[in-house]
Amino acid sequence: MYPKSLQELIEAFRKLPGVGEKSAERYALNITDMQEEDVRRFAQALVDVKTKLRQCKICGNLSEEDECEICKDTSRNAKQIVVVQSAKDVLAMERLEEFNGTYHVLNGLLSSSKGIMPEDLNIDTLIKRAQEAEEIILATSTTMDGEMTALYLNKILKKECPSVLVTRIAHGLPSGGFLDYADEMTLAHALSGRRKVEE
Ligand SMILES: [Zn+2]
Repeated sequence: MYPKSLQELIEAFRKLPGVGEKSAERYALNITDMQEEDVRRFAQALVDVKTKLRQCKICGNLSEEDECEICKDTSRNAKQIVVVQSAKDVLAMERLEEFNGTYHVLNGLLSSSKGIMPEDLNIDTLIKRAQEAEEIILATSTTMDGEMTALYLNKILKKECPSVLVTRIAHGLPSGGFLDYADEMTLAHALSGRRKVEE
C-alpha cells in the first residue's frame, strides 16, 4: 500500500478518462520526482481552469470573461452561427481557419437514454440569437443523439424564427465520432457541403 498522499494522487488521476491503475501510478510517481516549483504551478493551473473559466454569456463557449474572444471579435460574422455540442468542437472548427462566423455551444446533446431534455441545454439563448441571424449551421455529431438534437433544433427554430436559414453539415464525419476526431479535410468538407434542412 502506498502512503496516503500518494494513494490519493493516484486516485485523482484515475478519475481522468482513459487513465487506468498503471498509468495513474506512473503519473503520480512522476509528480514525486518533479521540482516543487513545477508541482505548485501544475496544481495552480488545475485550480485556475476551474475558478477562472466560465461560459460565455452569448455563446456558451469557455471564456475567462463574460464574453469570449470570438463573440467579442467584431470582424466575425455574427449572423452566421455554427451550433456545436461542446467547447472542444469550437477549437476543432477554429483550427480549420476557414470559418469566420460565430458559434453556439449547447453543452451537451439531447438524449432519451440519459434523460437530457431541451431545458438542460443552452437552447434558449440560441433561439434569442437566431432572431438576428441569417444562417444557423447545425454541426452536432452524426451519432443518434446528435441527429436527434439537430432535428429538434430545426423544428424549434422553424417555429420561433421562420426567416432564418437552417443548414446541417454534410454527413462526412466518422459515424459515432465527434468533431474533434475528424481530420481537417473531412471537417472542411462537412462544412462546405452543408445543406438546408427540410421540414
Ligand atoms: Zn462567446
